[in-house]
Amino acid sequence: MAVRKILRIGDPQLRQKSAEVPVTEIRSSEIKKLIRDMYDSMEAAEGVGLAAPQIGVLKRVVVVGFYRSERYPELKNGIEHRVLINPEIEVLDSPKVGFWEGCLSVPDMRGYVERQRKIRLKFYDEKEEFHDEIIEGFDAVVYQHECDHLDGILYVDRLADPTMFGYNDELDMADRKAGKEPPQVA
Ligand code: ZN
Repeated sequence: MAVRKILRIGDPQLRQKSAEVPVTEIRSSEIKKLIRDMYDSMEAAEGVGLAAPQIGVLKRVVVVGFYRSERYPELKNGIEHRVLINPEIEVLDSPKVGFWEGCLSVPDMRGYVERQRKIRLKFYDEKEEFHDEIIEGFDAVVYQHECDHLDGILYVDRLADPTMFGYNDELDMADRKAGKEPPQVA
C-alpha cells in the first residue's frame, strides 16, 4: 500500500498536459504500481476519482470508483471501479447538466460546473482491452472532470458562475440559512 501525496492547486504539475501510455506498456509493472498507488491514494482521501497528474505522474491514467459513502448518500450503488488509460472523450449532441464539483486537488471547496450530460468515451483498461462506450449523467460528469486533469484543466476553470464557488463549510452554512439541504457533490 502506497498512499501518495496529492498535489494541490498552485502546483504547476497540475497544469501540464500528460503523455499517452504506449499500449505495449499498459501491462508493465510500472503502470501496475501506478494504478495501485492511485487507488490507495484515492481511497485514503475518500475521492470518487483520481488522475495520475494529481500524484505528480504526467501520464494519461485515471481511476474512478467508490463504494457507498456518507459523502454521497444519493449514489446508493456507488460508481463502478475502473481504470481508464489514454481516455478520449467525444461530446455528443446533448444538453448540459450542472453539478457541484469538488476535487482532491482543491480540498474543502466546491463549485458549480456545467458539463455535457452524455459523452462517448474510448479508453484502454488495465488489461489492455479497448472500450468504446456511451456514458450519461453523474458518471459522465465524473469522467469529464478526471479526463480534464490529463490536459491540465481544473474544475475551477469551468465555473458556470464564479459566485457559486467556495469553502464547503461556508456554502453549507449559507444553504442551511436559506432552508436548503447542502447538495450532492461530484
Ligand atoms: Zn479533480
